Amino acid sequence: MSDSLHLFPVPPTLTDLYLRELVRDSVPKPTALGTPARYSDAGSCGRAIGYAALGVTPTNPMDVPGHWVTNIGTLLHEKVQEAIGRKYPEAEFEIPTKLGDHISGSCDGYLDEAPLVATNPDWTWGSVVFELKTMGAYGYDKQIGLKRRARKMDEPEGPKYQAILQAGLNALGLIESGKPVDSLVMGSASMEAVSIQLAESAGIDDTTRVMAEFVIPDGVWRGPAMVEKERITRIVESVNENILPDRSVVVDLSGNLDYIDPDASRPAWQCTYCKFKDRCLQDRSELTVPVELRK
Ligand code: SF4
Repeated sequence: MSDSLHLFPVPPTLTDLYLRELVRDSVPKPTALGTPARYSDAGSCGRAIGYAALGVTPTNPMDVPGHWVTNIGTLLHEKVQEAIGRKYPEAEFEIPTKLGDHISGSCDGYLDEAPLVATNPDWTWGSVVFELKTMGAYGYDKQIGLKRRARKMDEPEGPKYQAILQAGLNALGLIESGKPVDSLVMGSASMEAVSIQLAESAGIDDTTRVMAEFVIPDGVWRGPAMVEKERITRIVESVNENILPDRSVVVDLSGNLDYIDPDASRPAWQCTYCKFKDRCLQDRSELTVPVELRK
């Protein structure tokens, strides 16, 4: 008999209690100002946005790991916002705004230029919208340009275009409400630290082992955000005219689209995680909103 110790996980008695509470107490989050679509739809599949706008009950609701990961992100947002508020008492958080009658959301943070310049006289990015994203190590590596196998840094990809579009929609909403916005400050927080050894090889400082910040200037975010606003507006309008929107997702900041199919041999990741997947499969050939889903 082997004398090595084998420990297998057992069904949890204590560890999962908080997770079970999260799942039990979860309720669908309404849009910020009661609109059919939300800024966080930025880049998403048109048909999924359409189902949400119709108020369709998700056929594939968030799974248990999804609740866990989402909750960790929420907790981190609250702590980061509290710290920003202590340093910049003028900062505002979760300001709800809307674009037309169809899209709304609330920003992670908003800071006018004045307190930023008062703290840092070299600040040239103007007034900003802050957006924080939490992510796994794989996504974080790509954003900062870390190549693990080669143990070196390469060209960073920066924040995902969906996050830039979402922050850009927030910025447009704030501008419509009368607040100036020049730049987006995008925070990326990794769920896993780059190891000390790897950081030394690749020349990564302590902070960048877990988080990075990017500034997106007006000339980069504004045009794509306006295009995305129009796309989502058209999606909601098509649903109001009883037409099911295309199964298409935005693939870059230029607003290019890819058509996706949940029935493909290798479905797009958006379909794998889609809360309307079974409904979408059922409506496969439908071009008009099925009668039972009409408002
Ligand atoms: S299953 Fe895929 S194509 Fe269908 S609504 Fe969801 S993301 Fe869109």
